[in-house]
Parts: sequence; structure tokens; C-alpha cells
Amino acid sequence: MSKPVSEIKIGILGGGQLGRMLVQAGKEWNLDFYILDESASFPSGNVGAGFVTGNFKDYDDVYKFGKDKDIITVEIEHVNTDALLQLQREGVEVHPNPASLNIIKDKGTQKLFYKNHDLPTADFQIFESKKDIFLALESSTLAYPFVQKSRLAGYDGKGVAIIRNDNDVLEIMDVPSVTEKLVDISTEISVIASRNKNGQIRCYPAVDMEFHNKANLVEFVYFPSKISKEKQKEAENLAATIINELDICGLLAVEMFLDKDGKILINEIAPRPHNSGHITIEASITSQFQQHLRGICNLPLGDTRFHSPAVMVNLLGAKGHSGKTKYSGMDECLQIDGASIHLYGKATTKPYRKMGHATVLDKTRAKATRNAKQIKKFLKIHT
Ligand code: ADP
Repeated sequence: MSKPVSEIKIGILGGGQLGRMLVQAGKEWNLDFYILDESASFPSGNVGAGFVTGNFKDYDDVYKFGKDKDIITVEIEHVNTDALLQLQREGVEVHPNPASLNIIKDKGTQKLFYKNHDLPTADFQIFESKKDIFLALESSTLAYPFVQKSRLAGYDGKGVAIIRNDNDVLEIMDVPSVTEKLVDISTEISVIASRNKNGQIRCYPAVDMEFHNKANLVEFVYFPSKISKEKQKEAENLAATIINELDICGLLAVEMFLDKDGKILINEIAPRPHNSGHITIEASITSQFQQHLRGICNLPLGDTRFHSPAVMVNLLGAKGHSGKTKYSGMDECLQIDGASIHLYGKATTKPYRKMGHATVLDKTRAKATRNAKQIKKFLKIHT
């Protein structure tokens, strides 16, 4: 990009909390942002970006939005990639590149990518419909237990069904899907890789993730990871290989399993800021949001070292509450040293909706965990 950074117009598809935090990070450098999404009442609507109302899945809306921008990026994978390919042909920088976005947004092609590149992932099969899954079960080409994942548009565990035996078959979704061997997971980890157009690559150290048992989304993220240094290195190398193979600029979050046999398996990837990277805002020298901007603007990538042990907890909407958002317990949380609270400004709450997050830094991971659990107990998001 020949323009000085302060003159670059950056368009973001998606106006949720990831877009919001991306804009907030770029404001430190006075970058010029525009958001495309359906309502300016979304989290990115009031943080100083130009807001264009439209549908990021619609060809015309994306094309019109992107035409006068220098760089287009995303905070969600499920966008209109045909329009992005056209914009790219017309000279707009699109990051992540739309061809790779097409591979990633379909869990079927994503798994085939791992297979074709000899990257470790759980064994899988691809099915068109529920009927085909039943036929495979009858002919014993598919066996229990397995995990069924919708090929398109799944996130935060929506579109994932664990099928252990005949009693679970009612859960099988009638959509094009991937089935995977149920992995005996020891730890779920994430590595966020970053890359710029010059080919520089830097990875954040691995973090451990703990999932909410009902909401099926990540609830706690821990640094440092408890897995061995050797396995952490292996995970970082895998993340670096994938971001390079996919020719992605900006971030690539790589979620992996360490199974009970000590093997690392790639679960899924996301070419954008990621929930497992929120911890970097306070705990690392460079936040994932600034790193994404460095990557897409082809600037030198930032230092990914952490200042100290840290824990991130997602702040979710309370069970049984749907409607206008109210918060309680802020006073108690703000008395906790080392804690930073982020609220996304969502006007309405619903059970388990991601409404904010908190990161706690402390001398040890155990101490940070204790305080993160206190925050989860104190801060209530209700109606
Ligand atoms: P989403 O895209 O909705 O985040 P994931 O593919 O990450 O969906 O699956 C959600 C969760 O389901 C994972 O974090 C993991 O806990 C569990 N899971 C997914 N695939 C497997 C698998 N093959 N074996 C065991 N558990 C799995």
C-alpha cells in the first residue's frame, strides 16, 4: 500500500464486538474505518466508524460498500465472497483473501484442506443429508460415537451435534455436514497466527480454552497453557504453516485439540480476531486487534509476548433473561486488582449471549483464575 496509514480507508464486514474492538484498536493510530452491517445499534455502531446499513451476505451491498475502500476485512466468515473476489480484481485489498475465505467458511472444504496438506485433524466424512448419514450407519461405514457439524454457518457450537448412540439420532441435523470421530480431548488450545503481505509471520503463544457446558462456547481462556512446551511449539508451527499455505494477511486463529494420546489435532480455523485472543488486549504487548491491522496494512508485526499470566472470562447473558440489557456488580468487579472489564454495548441480552469479557492479570495463572471466577460471580447481565 503506497498511501500513508493515516489515509487508508478500511472497511469491515460485520458490526459485532470483534468489529468494535478492531475499530477501537485502530483509533489509537487515527485510522479511518467503515462498517457494513444491518443496524447501527450493533456494538460497532457508536465507536467512531462510518456505518453503512446493509447485508454483508448480499453481493450488491458488499460490492457497493467496498468499491471506494482501500482495504476490506471481516469480523465474520459468512460474507459474500463473490463480491470480495470482484473487488479484489478491481484492485481493492481484501484480507483475508476471498479464495481462502471460501475454503474456511465451509467446514467440508476446510477439512479437505487439512487432509490435502497432510495436516493433523480428526478423521472425517462428508454427507449431503440426514438420510445419507443413516445409510452410512446402516452399512457400518460410519460408527458411533461421532460429531456432526453443519458445513455452513455454524458458530459457537450452533450446528454441532455429538452423536454417541441410537438415543442421539434425533439430534442429527438434515443439512450438508461433516462427521468427525469423537476425539478424547485432554485440552482445547488456540494459537493465533499473524502474517503480512511481506510474508512476515508471528504467532501468539498457545492458550488453553475451557468451554461453557451448556452454551457450547468458550468461557475461560488461560495463559500460560498447561500443555508441554514441546506441544506448544508444535501447535505454533502448525498455525504458522496454515496461515502461510492459505496466503492470509491479518490474523488466523487455529483451534486445536490435544488428545489423550498426546496428539495435536486441528479443530477449526478463523481468519480474523478471535474470542481466544481477547486476552491479548491487556496481557500481551500487542493486542490481536492491532496485530490484525498491522497484518492487513502490511506493517511490521508486533511483539506477541505476554506481560504475565492471565485469564479471560466471557461475560454471558444470564439464564432466563431476554430483553433490554442491565448490568449489576460492576463496583465489586472494579475492586479486583489486575482486572479489566469490557462491555460490548448490546442493547438486548438473552441467555448465554456474549455481552462482554473480562481479563485478569496476576502473578500466577491460579490467582488470575480465582479472580476471573469472582468476576463471573459478581457481574450479572440481566433484564
Ligand atoms: P463452532 O464452530 O461452533 O465453534 P466447533 O467445531 O469448534 O464448533 O465445535 C464446538 C466444540 O465441540 C469444540 O470446541 C469441542 O469442545 C467439541 N468438538 C468439536 N469437534 C469435536 C470432535 N471431533 N471430538 C470431540 N469434541 C469435539
